Amino acid sequence: MYNAIVIGARCAGAAVGTHLARQGLRVLVVDRSRFPSDVLSTHFIWPHGASYLNRLGVLDQVRAVTPAHTRVTVVNNGIALRGGIPEELLRNQFRLLHDDDSGITTEYFSVRRHVLDGMLVDNAVRAGVEFREGYTVKELLRDEDGTVVGIKGRDGTVEHAQVVIGADGRNSFVARALGIAKSDERPRCTYAYWSYFSGIPDCEAQIHRQGRLGMAMASTNHGQTMVLTWGPSEWAAGFRADVEGNFHRALGLISEEAADTVARARREERFYGTLDQAAFLRRLHGPGWLLVGDAGSFKDQCTALGITHALRDAELAAEAVGRWLGGETDRDTAMAGYAAKRRSQTAAAYYDYVCTLAEMKPLRHDELQLFAILRGNQAEIDRFIATHVDVAPVSEFFDPSNVFLLNDTAKESSRDHGAFADFEATYREHQRNPFLRVGAEVAR
Ligand SMILES: Cc1cc2nc3c(=O)[nH]c(=O)nc-3n(C[C@H](O)[C@H](O)[C@H](O)COP(=O)(O)OP(=O)(O)OC[C@H]3O[C@@H](n4cnc5c(N)ncnc54)[C@H](O)[C@@H]3O)c2cc1C
Repeated sequence: MYNAIVIGARCAGAAVGTHLARQGLRVLVVDRSRFPSDVLSTHFIWPHGASYLNRLGVLDQVRAVTPAHTRVTVVNNGIALRGGIPEELLRNQFRLLHDDDSGITTEYFSVRRHVLDGMLVDNAVRAGVEFREGYTVKELLRDEDGTVVGIKGRDGTVEHAQVVIGADGRNSFVARALGIAKSDERPRCTYAYWSYFSGIPDCEAQIHRQGRLGMAMASTNHGQTMVLTWGPSEWAAGFRADVEGNFHRALGLISEEAADTVARARREERFYGTLDQAAFLRRLHGPGWLLVGDAGSFKDQCTALGITHALRDAELAAEAVGRWLGGETDRDTAMAGYAAKRRSQTAAAYYDYVCTLAEMKPLRHDELQLFAILRGNQAEIDRFIATHVDVAPVSEFFDPSNVFLLNDTAKESSRDHGAFADFEATYREHQRNPFLRVGAEVAR
């Protein structure tokens, strides 16, 4: 009999297993994959994610093989803002969520999943987790009250535990087996295509938005750079008709400089891509079970936060299970505490923020003005970046008390940028799908 069985051994599963084992609990983590292995995902890890890796004890290993930076450049229709996430905001967030701000770092990383997930699994085993790879769970065991009490593997083995944790990704087997429906679904999302290039010197990450298109470049492992482009899902079919051609076409439309850099580099892997990033929430716990990471909620990766949030959930879930099994509180109160932290008003506002961004509407005049006004105000640039990646509450940055940013003098002084020249025509142009073949567009 285990204290906990965790299904899934990646960012959420290996991490929750590690935290539980460190509390002295008997933990089994299983995954149908073998490790190290990749998943279909880019892998940008913001400073709060890196801080969670540090708290798990794997950040030094990541740092040894992955470039680290603290400043990032965010470019919207050519308006560039360079900044980082202030340490104080990170500390506030960790104190609020975990009552503990140890291990904070302001560095970010772009670490390949076959590198990271292998490290997380090894770390879990070192912490005392019993790990079975290549093990598919095909059934949840329940007692006469419906409480989940264990698992049955495809190989016929049966294991029992006080709690079964679903860290099994967005198509969660646990959720399907228990009939946990998706809620607050947001079908409008982005498509994303990326690959890996050599010959681009290690540099700070760049994230660009130009009209309805996005692009990011980040130095990663093996001396390579990950280059990613995305756009609204309704343009995906056109893009897919010629992935390589449209990848470079998109880069050219977004940033000529970045397009030139990539054109001179050498592609080392095939293109990877996904069309489905529709967001949803699920109920997070019930008798004998709880969900962590993508199993409990998924959202578009236009802000690159799934890994960071999975690591956060893992810590929150382990804290809750520890309070219950340590006798500090009863099971239902502990689980409700976990859900309350994940489903706070701040979290709901951030979910809305990401889902709205994921629609990739052309940038409005007032949005561009905000970016233009921020130039030169480093404290507000940093606060904006922290807000964009869910370190500071969306409601604070966009609060009316911040409207000083948009007073008349500020607006006037922001109009010098080329992004405002012939704004109406550019805005109309940005609504046109650049990946439609000419004949198809005429026929439309
Ligand atoms: C295109 C794309 C780009 C992304 N880019 C980023 C990014 O830049 N930064 C970022 O932070 N996040 C990014 N994400 C999100 C990130 O990939 C996920 O949020 C993250 O992988 C969630 O981790 P997880 O541990 O919850 O689930 P997963 O990584 O999905 O792991 C689930 C595991 O459960 C196992 N499993 C499932 N069912 C069973 C079963 N029945 N029995 C045994 N094992 C089972 C699977 O084998 C798998 O290993 C991206 C996602 C996508 C789709």
